[in-house]
Amino acid sequence: MKHTLLTLVIALLLPTAISAKKPKKITQNKDEFINELMSHMTLEEKIGQLNLLDAGQLNTGTGQKGVEDQSILNGEVGGFLSLMGVDRIREVQQYAVEKSRLGIPLLFGLDVIHGYHTIFPIPLAMSCTWDMEKVQLAARTAAIEATADGIPWVYSPMVDISRDARWGRIAESAGEDPFLGSEMAKAMVLGYQGDKRHGGQYATDEVMACVKHFALYGASESGLDYNVTDMSRVRMYNDYLAPYRAAVDAGVGSVMSSFNTIDYEPATASSWLLTSLLREQWNFKGFVVTDYGSIGEMRAWGCGDLQTCSARALAAGTDFDMCSRGFVGTLKKSLEEGLVTMHQIDTACRRMLEAKWDLGLFEDPYRYCSMPPKKRKDVLYTDASRALARQIAAESFVLLKNDNQLLPLEKRGKIALVGPMAHAPKNMRGNWAPTANTNPNEFSTLLESMRRALGQQAEIVYAKGSNIHEDAQIEANWEVFDTGIRDPRSEAELLKEALQTVSDADVIIAAIGESQEMTGESASRSDISLPGTQLRLLKALKATGKPVVVVYFTGRPVVMKWEKENIPAILNVWFGGSEGGDAICDVLFGDASPSGKLTTSFPQTTGQEPFYYNHMVTGRPISKWFSKYATNYTDIDGTAVFPFGYGLTYTTFQYGPLSLSSDKFSSGGKIEARVTVTNTGRRAGDEIVQMYIHDTAASIARPIKELKGFRRIHLEPGEQQTVTFEVDEELLKFYNADLRHVAEPGEFTLMVGPNSEDLQSKTFILE
Ligand code: BGC
Repeated sequence: MKHTLLTLVIALLLPTAISAKKPKKITQNKDEFINELMSHMTLEEKIGQLNLLDAGQLNTGTGQKGVEDQSILNGEVGGFLSLMGVDRIREVQQYAVEKSRLGIPLLFGLDVIHGYHTIFPIPLAMSCTWDMEKVQLAARTAAIEATADGIPWVYSPMVDISRDARWGRIAESAGEDPFLGSEMAKAMVLGYQGDKRHGGQYATDEVMACVKHFALYGASESGLDYNVTDMSRVRMYNDYLAPYRAAVDAGVGSVMSSFNTIDYEPATASSWLLTSLLREQWNFKGFVVTDYGSIGEMRAWGCGDLQTCSARALAAGTDFDMCSRGFVGTLKKSLEEGLVTMHQIDTACRRMLEAKWDLGLFEDPYRYCSMPPKKRKDVLYTDASRALARQIAAESFVLLKNDNQLLPLEKRGKIALVGPMAHAPKNMRGNWAPTANTNPNEFSTLLESMRRALGQQAEIVYAKGSNIHEDAQIEANWEVFDTGIRDPRSEAELLKEALQTVSDADVIIAAIGESQEMTGESASRSDISLPGTQLRLLKALKATGKPVVVVYFTGRPVVMKWEKENIPAILNVWFGGSEGGDAICDVLFGDASPSGKLTTSFPQTTGQEPFYYNHMVTGRPISKWFSKYATNYTDIDGTAVFPFGYGLTYTTFQYGPLSLSSDKFSSGGKIEARVTVTNTGRRAGDEIVQMYIHDTAASIARPIKELKGFRRIHLEPGEQQTVTFEVDEELLKFYNADLRHVAEPGEFTLMVGPNSEDLQSKTFILE
């Protein structure tokens, strides 16, 4: 890999002119190569590298779509998103490389959010496994599949802390906790990219990750998508920024800015966010891409015309303009008018070229398009990847209630499966699965999986029971892409059929909840309880007197108050991905034990939102029941129906007494917290042991408790294990009023238990 002498000579002889020759060979040295390449680039070509266009195969945003031959030819495009199909990607790449003047390869990005062909559970569900090894493996699998199919860059992980369940994009997140969210961010980045903490080139089966949405998008006011966010810096640093930072520390190659405002400024134009914080404080070395059309949207935020907005975005630290055509359309003029500098354009262009270098695209632009079709078949949707997806799905389900050990069910008798989610192929996998293998022979609904799981051992009867919502228009809002789900029959007709179907069944499994489009982007709900028609169905099923098991599909925490009070067994299954149906059957019939624990708090009513366990104490601390002049509601007790960290399994665990190795330590020292957990039931099971800390006296108000450690352990019946958590000064640090990261001497309460409410505690002192 050497420069051609000729290219160098031309560059030296004509230092100011732009050579028409392309650098033909690449050197070993990234900087040298990029310097050389940039010396050949016109201003227009440099700006072209900052232009990301939508190839039009996916539906997000409102921009213009399509692969444009002329723009590619002119060197006006840096990459495409949502171009799918390896042959098409190769064709477009070839066009860019062979027909454009400098032959700079394009960068192809895609929303690979919870798997590529093999779809894993939605991210919120994955976080409920608390199993970072598996999460990393899932991301690794997605990387292997995506790269085999032409995609080197994915728009994941989404790490926005989400504490308002009305916001549909909570489904894409790891929930409400910054500690767990940071672990998830790290696991996913390492899974996608391999370890790039010290830079370096990507292997052909690694993708560049893109952490999003930077920043605070999860705090959209009123849970309304695309809305304003506003909070103090102290809250930002302590509660919201940690997962983005964890992704950066794990070496993430790119960052996507968010749609929302921060301090009344669109994130895309915030130089505090994109330069001071991200680059200067966190030392981020990759590139920043906007979210879909964000620069254009700055106009609606009132930031000026497209030229002004584009200049502001570039100056703030944005490198890649997704679908606004603001950079490509206006930066030249802005340079002439002094609104931006050549240095700013060069810096952004260099970052884009560096990313392409790191992905090996200069060495071989077809690097991700070269796998022979036969080999690709061995890589995509394999038995091994499906087995992993099935195992992860089973681990992600949360058993919320199981009176008298109704679950697992025996594989015998007559089982009635009822509900709008029981046989709904479009509502199985989750919202971000556009690349999923959709071959009906290789993917099952719950009903199909159940038939396979039970074979001749039990009889299954099925009825749809109800639509998703009684109001056809509301249901249509949840079916923008997956149309044709609604049953034309009336509620009464559907119910009648269901009651006839279950009449001589031994047990009823009610598959109910949200359709997949009820969460995800642009899917906020003002009421997060079960739609009326489904609740009426559930009440009618309960009234039969037969045992009812609820299998609840959802992409968010929902209000499950009535269900908890009235239904004996509830398994929350989120959206389980390609193997969701089989995984549900594994758990329902005892071939796998549930082990997931909630990473979001389930409220009693929508009115509690935003609702999260790690809230402030307040001067009039929250008590369970209403008392005048305390932090309470007058009409509910204010607790969670199911708290953060909660989940049951088919066995029982007993926690021994919590002990600390010492009740004090000083700077540089540490203590250990220990608890012995015993499996007291008759089945093997996994337990997620959680540690929380509360800083009882600090210079600023601190949360009532914060997750600071967790371990997932496996115990056979009768087996016990001592779990140890180390506590050092680092773990006790928080951002104080001056935004300094400090551990303040004083008393702390350490709590350990199976969920955020059922805890033993001990105090210790940091001297
Ligand atoms: C979403 C992003 C996504 C992008 C590209 C946007 O509308 O907010 O999460 O990566 O579209 O599809």
